[in-house]
Amino acid sequence: MDSLSASVLYGGEFRMTHRFHLDGEKRQRHLDAIAKRLPDHLKRLNWSKEELASARKTGLRNTLSFALENSDWHRKRLQHVDIANMTEADLTTLPTMTKSDVMSNWDDIVTDKRLTLAGANDHITRKLRDPDAPYYYLDDYEIFATGGSTGSRGVFVWGWEEFVEIACASFRYQMRDEPPEKLTGKRLLAVVEAGETVHGSPFLFSVTPDTEAKVDWFPAATPMKELVEQLNTAQPTHINGFSSAIQELAAEAVAGNLRISPTRVSTNSEPLLEETRIAAKKAWNLKINNMWGCVEVGHIAVECDAHEGMHLNEDMIICEFVDAENKATDDPDKIDKILATSLFGTSLPMIRYEISDIAIPDSKPCNCGAVYPLIKEVRGRADDAFKYAGDAKVHPLVFRTPLGQHPNIEEYQVWQTEKGAKISIVRAGDIDEALLTSDLVAALKEQGMQEPEITLEFVDAVTRHKETGKLRRFVPL
Ligand SMILES: [Zn+2]
Repeated sequence: MDSLSASVLYGGEFRMTHRFHLDGEKRQRHLDAIAKRLPDHLKRLNWSKEELASARKTGLRNTLSFALENSDWHRKRLQHVDIANMTEADLTTLPTMTKSDVMSNWDDIVTDKRLTLAGANDHITRKLRDPDAPYYYLDDYEIFATGGSTGSRGVFVWGWEEFVEIACASFRYQMRDEPPEKLTGKRLLAVVEAGETVHGSPFLFSVTPDTEAKVDWFPAATPMKELVEQLNTAQPTHINGFSSAIQELAAEAVAGNLRISPTRVSTNSEPLLEETRIAAKKAWNLKINNMWGCVEVGHIAVECDAHEGMHLNEDMIICEFVDAENKATDDPDKIDKILATSLFGTSLPMIRYEISDIAIPDSKPCNCGAVYPLIKEVRGRADDAFKYAGDAKVHPLVFRTPLGQHPNIEEYQVWQTEKGAKISIVRAGDIDEALLTSDLVAALKEQGMQEPEITLEFVDAVTRHKETGKLRRFVPL
């Protein structure tokens, strides 16, 4: 079993100001496994189109065979499929799967029968209540809950090897473009991500191909003034952060409050706005490296240092760009979602899984020479921070953490009020209202609000946009 303990400091540089602890012998072993695997991934960036196509064909057949043999749910869906002769073009004959399918059939989809949704939920609750609770689950699984971009809750699991693959996919271009052996002097990676280990972000984004670099965590929900002070003291050379957090930091730098000189800034988890790129250029004279992915399949695309778009990780994930009726399309105005098939995910196999992001593919090749096709942009709108009287600003993450992780919250919508928020909740079971309210009030107080007021209301469905049907999860005053 895992034995994470606050007394074992990762690299001696762990900040004790944060609630979670990513340290311990097992975490170090995981980082070692990633470092060992990265050179193989580096070689894949030199693959020819033929090598890539061949790996995808084999990968697809292996994925389907594995799911057929090990997942009860997939077996029912795949039993009549001619897997031995399957090609990517035949994918359209397979049914798609949704987050709702995953949540309704979780125990039947997973391939390790020790995994159950109830057990995973218990693990999440334990981690939320006790920062010293073991991070890994059933030896070496990681469990994450997400509100995702649609506001409905999902629970996902990464096995040991899956995490290694996801980390390699995330950082192989950085390793190619900024070879660690050529770096000299101080390197400090600042991780401006979620402050709870029930999110995958602190765990994944604190990985770096530069094993000599120090890593420091700064929860994105830290009040901005405090975050600026902490970063001024730390002087990071590298930053990984939520796109919205980087946008705010770049603005602080342009205003002269944040005085750091990073050489690499990577964004993730939210759509990256053009104004954030412009602000980063102005603030630090650099181009942002953006990433696009989700907890279900890991990073789908990553921007290299040629900055011509994000390279699809086509050796690991098959992406179908489809319209609202799941028909293939490359018309940017018709693309409604992505169907992702993971070629490395084994714990909870994802086959034609619906991801509601609108990603626009590009047909031009990248200057860097890698044959992996580019994504021009991922459309979407970053959730706005709520602004309150007295200059208090509350990032959606402050709400997202307590709400997105509660096992019995199926969906939620946060309506800003003068002194706090009214929260509409679709529930799947009992919810301790007093506890949830006090968690939210405490979180808002941490943001500098004096007497925050939270009201909860339980509803059958959350309100969606009349025309588009899309959910605006955070509605400002
Ligand atoms: Zn490139």
